Amino acid sequence: MSATATKTMRRPEPGEVPRDGGAAVQLHPDKPVFRGNGPYDYVCVSCGNVLAASMPAEYMNRKVRVRCARCATVNVAVEEPGVDYSKGFGHSDTVRVSPQEARPRVESRRQNWLANLFG
Ligand SMILES: [Zn+2]
Repeated sequence: MSATATKTMRRPEPGEVPRDGGAAVQLHPDKPVFRGNGPYDYVCVSCGNVLAASMPAEYMNRKVRVRCARCATVNVAVEEPGVDYSKGFGHSDTVRVSPQEARPRVESRRQNWLANLFG
């Protein structure tokens, strides 16, 4: 397995996240919400917990929000120049998960999301 680099996520700008805005909710601090085959681990801006592991940068655009299981901070992925995010979450509905949703539903959406990405 190749080494991964760490990228720190950021806090949302004021007003950036609507009140009912969806975020992927991390259920356990030791389990990243997303895990892929890319070069980057994405960590919480507040506590450094790993929220998404081994992700390609292209998928981690500003529509990706993850609520940290350790400190409850909502993190947004940092978009960087030179990265083509068009094949990422143009359709963020696939990761829109409200906190009220039960664990099986969250898990099933996560699986679907990964299946779509990595086939
Ligand atoms: Zn955190």
